[in-house]
Amino acid sequence: MTTRVGIGYDSHRFAAGGPLILGGIRIPSDTHLQGHSDGDAIAHAVTDAILGAAVAGDIGEMFSDQDPAHRGRDSMGMLRAAVARVRALGFMPQQVDVAVVAEQARITPHRAAMRAAVAEALGVSVDAVSIKGKTNEGMGWIGRGEGLACMAVATVVASPARAG
Ligand code: MG
Repeated sequence: MTTRVGIGYDSHRFAAGGPLILGGIRIPSDTHLQGHSDGDAIAHAVTDAILGAAVAGDIGEMFSDQDPAHRGRDSMGMLRAAVARVRALGFMPQQVDVAVVAEQARITPHRAAMRAAVAEALGVSVDAVSIKGKTNEGMGWIGRGEGLACMAVATVVASPARAG
């Protein structure tokens, strides 16, 4: 069985007013992630990782931030659309590992819900989705609390029809 790997990265700036949407979860907060869509950096990093694994383009090409139709868009819906594109090319999402780098945001209380939401969008079991939080040890723009960054690595497997 052929396994392919992809990487995704995303960052968004914090802005005043909640809720903070991350990993498909609405987190009560006095800040949110600013973006053309809902700013869900986990969803965006995972989307690029899945697309990259299938060599199926990238999130900026699929969902242009110049297109008013994508303003405020639900990023988990964007992830589902990317999964559909990957499946159409004969690949199935297999596993994803996500690192969230943020100085203040606490991932742990929301980890289980985020894992479940990402797993549902990918069509994989929850035990195939890892999400973990890190601080940036106070350094740089993340350390100053200006925003957060997410990195994701994903694997996809070729469906039996494609593998043949
Ligand atoms: Mg983004």
